[in-house]
Amino acid sequence: MDDFDYYAVLEIDRNATAEEIKRAFRKAALKYHPDKNRNNPEAEAKFKRINEAYQVLSDENKRALYDRYGKEGLDSRGGADFGDMFGDIADVFDSFFGGGRKRSDRRNKEALDIAVELEISFMEAVFGCKKTLKYRYLKPCEACGGAGGKRKTCDYCGGRGQIYQRQGFMTFSQTCPKCHGTGGVLETACKECKGKGAIAIDDSVELTIPEGVDNAQRLRALGRGNLGASGARGDLYVVLSVRDDPVFVRQDNNVYVEAPVFFTLAALGGSIEVATLRGKQNLEIARGTRDKAQIVLRGEGIRSAASARTGDMIVQVKIVYPKKLTDEQEELLTKLHESFGQESVAHKGFFDEIAERVKSWFN
Ligand SMILES: [Zn+2]
Ligand SMILES: [Zn+2]
Repeated sequence: MDDFDYYAVLEIDRNATAEEIKRAFRKAALKYHPDKNRNNPEAEAKFKRINEAYQVLSDENKRALYDRYGKEGLDSRGGADFGDMFGDIADVFDSFFGGGRKRSDRRNKEALDIAVELEISFMEAVFGCKKTLKYRYLKPCEACGGAGGKRKTCDYCGGRGQIYQRQGFMTFSQTCPKCHGTGGVLETACKECKGKGAIAIDDSVELTIPEGVDNAQRLRALGRGNLGASGARGDLYVVLSVRDDPVFVRQDNNVYVEAPVFFTLAALGGSIEVATLRGKQNLEIARGTRDKAQIVLRGEGIRSAASARTGDMIVQVKIVYPKKLTDEQEELLTKLHESFGQESVAHKGFFDEIAERVKSWFN
């Protein structure tokens, strides 16, 4: 690519609007179109330049790159559009070191946010709680003004923050691994912060955790994040990690609990005591209740502050059999069993019936 200015080629000034660019391109392209200028190599060359200039200036991203870095930045980044994938690391560094390229405040603010995990118990999540969270945030080192020490231009990328690699006719750009895109490296590290540009401060925050929070939910403490060189402060995000409970299992706002029911009680029916989130409750077990039967206690689940809805408690019956029988119990059970007569061997008839049914499928 030979050296010429895209704005000059289209005869527009550097502040031209998108509409002005389009108009200038149409006018110039018409004038130098090969159809109108046969056997005129000069016009042909001009036509190519006009096209090239329009390709760049009509694309907002490419135009911005061209304005900032000239053709060099463009011919790589503009060519393959991989630039943004590598932008984030530079943002983080920018916000701490204040150096490098200027980014928008919003991006800087995100880079100043901190995420800290907080472990709470199952019951703390269910009912909410107050917690004191100890954490650390970063603030710019005063001794070096956040620069980390004396800086010099990065020799790896020549201060551009990007390195360009040509592969065939495509050029790829990558954030410079030596300066992480800031374009500068430390010459001598600051003694206070050991070159980091920031100092970690121990702090703590009082958190009011609302009722009904769940695992992986995030709480935000406004303005408790890292301090940037510009004086802006990020937020602290507290990511909740809820410990399992030995008794209760949560699913959304519903809570499951297993209730052991002795086999004779399941057969006869009766009353049992179950643990709920808010204490104990008597529960009627119907005569002949089966294993894994579920009894729903409406509104006894989790009250979620976020959804303003209360879940249910689901009690699942687990029929329990005696581990050992005394001679007397065995005798009684045998008698009981025999007293049922044909009904006690009901499963035999059941299997015969199934066999008949299956046979009928093939006839
Ligand atoms: Zn570099
Ligand atoms: Zn320092």
